[in-house]
Amino acid sequence: MERVILHSDLNNFYASVECLHQPELQGKPVAVGGSVERRHGIILARNTIAKNFGIKTGEAIWQARQRCPGLIVTPPDYGKYIRFSKLAREIYRDYTDKIEAFGIDENWLDVTDSTRLFGDGEHIAHEIRRRMRAETGITVSVGVSWNKIFAKLGSDLKKPDDVSVISPDNYKQRVWPLPAKELLYVGPSTRRKLAKIGLYTIGDIAAVSPAVLTGLLGKWGEYLWSFANGLDTTPVSILGTESMIKGIGNSMTTPRDLENNEDVKMLFYVLSESVAERLRSHCFKGSTVQIHVRDRDLVTIDRQAPLNTHTFVSSEIAEKAFEIFLKNWTWDKPIRSIGVRVTDLVIPDGCTQLSLFDADNRRLKKELLEKCIDDIRSRYGHYSTQRALMLKDTELNANPIEENVIFPVSYFR
Ligand SMILES: [Mg+2]
Repeated sequence: MERVILHSDLNNFYASVECLHQPELQGKPVAVGGSVERRHGIILARNTIAKNFGIKTGEAIWQARQRCPGLIVTPPDYGKYIRFSKLAREIYRDYTDKIEAFGIDENWLDVTDSTRLFGDGEHIAHEIRRRMRAETGITVSVGVSWNKIFAKLGSDLKKPDDVSVISPDNYKQRVWPLPAKELLYVGPSTRRKLAKIGLYTIGDIAAVSPAVLTGLLGKWGEYLWSFANGLDTTPVSILGTESMIKGIGNSMTTPRDLENNEDVKMLFYVLSESVAERLRSHCFKGSTVQIHVRDRDLVTIDRQAPLNTHTFVSSEIAEKAFEIFLKNWTWDKPIRSIGVRVTDLVIPDGCTQLSLFDADNRRLKKELLEKCIDDIRSRYGHYSTQRALMLKDTELNANPIEENVIFPVSYFR
């Protein structure tokens, strides 16, 4: 029997929750702003009215205000968002226990077994949509398909408060004309590589021989090809279990050999920044750091060590990587290539997120700061903000970082 997978995405989540809690905000342009420092506040989320003013997630609050002087900016309150996230999951639980979170506001549901009781996937999706609005006051958009990749894509097609079905009969019309970046895990770097060989749409990826993609992206190319053709078979994990991604890492062959600890430390920071950025963009934290170091004669070491806590903070990853390095490297030869990877990933759910609030404030600040840096970079480019440490050697720092493979768990079984 073909699977029935839903992907349910709470619309404008932070802003919707704020509007519910502050009725005086109804009907007004509202944004949630992450103002670690007030002068550098960034828009984290906005409601539909603010969106219609052209206000974008990631832009500076002062700029947003120029376009929309009446904009109301309210600070984020993650405790509230976690409560709503749980409320939403309680509704999902009436239909299945196969619920997999993807960030705080998105979930995949495998409702295959409940279709006998509740009707087909589309019917269940509409029921969830109506209940969400009635029982929590916020809206969802739901994608319905036979695999996770297309279900996720479907939830982006019509929003807010709507359902899109991607079936074996319509995916060639609905999915294939979309730009490649709409496919889950196609980031800016992969998108550029694909465009270089003339692949712009999901249909382009589906039509090319998988060998071409493997040549371009390694093993990951094969997965993309299967995703584009609707052949993804990764399961929806049972509520509270591990994510479908095993680890996120980056490595690079350096433009010149590394000769000393200072060089290595800087590169660990460069690599950890991009690793941390990708952890955050996929809403993951990890608790193990792995390093990979290869010298000029291709002698390689791979070592790992656990962190005290799950993290997506780049400095914590970089410091641990450097610590592992100091313990294990004897400097017989200069280094040619180096990598950092974070594994044992979890999606921060209620429990781990909560510890973030009652634990030390410093940690929360670090996390918020890094999220703001993501926002700035998504708007102004990666090099718009840099650690002072990295300005020391622009030659090393300017080297483009390889995009690393993300491993869906099922491919390792
Ligand atoms: Mg959302």
